[in-house]
Amino acid sequence: MHDLVIRNGKIVDGTGAPAHFGDVAIDGGVITSVGGTAGAGRREIDAEGLLVTPGFVDIHTHYDGQVTWDPYLTPSSWHGVTTIVMGNCGVGFAPVRRGQEDFLIGLMEGVEDIPGAALAEGIKWGWESFPDYLDTVAAIPRAIDVGAQMPHGSLRAYVMGERGAHNEAATPTDIQRMAVLVREALQAGALGFTTSRTMLHRAKNKEVVPGTFAGEDELLGIGRALGEAGHGVFEMASDLVGPDATMEWMVKLSTETGLPITFALAQIDKDPNGCQRVIDQVKRFNAAGAHLSPQISARPTGMLMGHESSLHPFITHRTYKSIAHLPIDERVAKLREPAIRAQILAEGPSVKDRATRHFVTNFSKYFPLGDPPDYEPERDANLAARAAREGISPAELAYDMMLEREGRALLYMPLANYAEYNLDALREMILDPVTTMGLSDGGAHCGLICDASMPTYMLTHWVRDRSRGARLTLETAVQRQTTDTANLYGLHDRGALKPGMKADVNVIDLEGLKLHAPKMVFDLPAGGRRLIQHADGYRYTVVSGEVIYENGTPTGALPGKLIRGPQPAPVAAS
Ligand SMILES: [Zn+2]
Repeated sequence: MHDLVIRNGKIVDGTGAPAHFGDVAIDGGVITSVGGTAGAGRREIDAEGLLVTPGFVDIHTHYDGQVTWDPYLTPSSWHGVTTIVMGNCGVGFAPVRRGQEDFLIGLMEGVEDIPGAALAEGIKWGWESFPDYLDTVAAIPRAIDVGAQMPHGSLRAYVMGERGAHNEAATPTDIQRMAVLVREALQAGALGFTTSRTMLHRAKNKEVVPGTFAGEDELLGIGRALGEAGHGVFEMASDLVGPDATMEWMVKLSTETGLPITFALAQIDKDPNGCQRVIDQVKRFNAAGAHLSPQISARPTGMLMGHESSLHPFITHRTYKSIAHLPIDERVAKLREPAIRAQILAEGPSVKDRATRHFVTNFSKYFPLGDPPDYEPERDANLAARAAREGISPAELAYDMMLEREGRALLYMPLANYAEYNLDALREMILDPVTTMGLSDGGAHCGLICDASMPTYMLTHWVRDRSRGARLTLETAVQRQTTDTANLYGLHDRGALKPGMKADVNVIDLEGLKLHAPKMVFDLPAGGRRLIQHADGYRYTVVSGEVIYENGTPTGALPGKLIRGPQPAPVAAS
């Protein structure tokens, strides 16, 4: 008698192999047979007409704080994600010295737009070293598996104090001390080391993330600690300028250690072909022994502008600022007053920062998001084009659209991957085996972005609904976010439905799979806001053989674990 049998499903096993029909049997938290007809199970799930896939592995999240208070790590787990990797982009909460907590919260709040008050109330500090943090995370019951990475920002502040926090150059002693701690963290089970090398990532006080300007000595000094530990991914958010443009240090480090380096890559408006050049460059380096993988997303990073968001076209207007403190319904009532409307529209944005000014005025990249949300809208649906057709100003159009849905309507501004007003270039990147899917930023950018639903989008848009160009096969869409993401992190025990593998499984009604429009809720600790997005159609999500969600409702089972280090492939599956 098996513990659990999932019967008669359409099995897409995550390896890229063609879908086939049959049963999946599970015993002791492990898959014991795939395909054919399995014997009886103590519990049986009828998957007739349903899709059976491995649980999704999301390698790019920022749940470092949430992981201490939310066993479900939503929204990710609502989208079939059974493993997350956190600690990305150089920000996190360990190591930490007493007295530095607020600094790390400010860094996370600034860079990742997670409300500081929520983090301050939610996190119950009680660790100092990274291994202590891992022990704390490991001791908390949870529904899905989590893996942690050592962030450069907290490490630098810990080792170098104010000098580290303010991005002064590291001395050889500093580097040596950081390397020791990284090695310790990796040995205790950290899955990698992460850093931020982009000017876009700034703390609340506007300082860039500690480590942003780290020189080759520091990067290699720390990176070699991964080599000494024998495992770990080096992840970074980089603008790929300066020393990163040639990738020389990355090639050197990954060739020497044999360990992967992954960095965010997206198509930008100013240079639509730039990402392809980077991919070609990476392929040449990899052919010569490097191990680089550009990390890409499944859709444009979607800035969602609305009256409850942290950014929108009117947020810097003087008159808007004077009513911004009002609760949303009162504010909306005011905004509907013709005099206020006229006054705000007569004012321009009062912001000096060029990037922000661009974001709040770039109406040719604004679209109504709609419900169901449309992340690949036609070019002529942009607000500038539409306003021109209607003979009004784009700001006026944006103003009125944002007042729809009781003032909760969201405008979608694709931040990247939309240079040509379609996702054709992104599709090429998704299909390129040198890239890895990531960048969902689960748990982060709470006031502006909600892309943790990317696993669902891979199935709804890329496999089923896309009408503006070629789609992806089901097999590819599943493989890209299971086997491929798991492999980059050395998690060879999951990501595929094969005997011996960890029994992390989704049973999905693909025809009924539906991505809801994102919405703002205030359910973080201290009433903190975050954008969330639900999906219908996940019939069962199984972690280590236990059903954690049934038709979107948590069952109460908490089989999730902290992952310590890379996991070998089971003998039976290799
Ligand atoms: Zn990130």
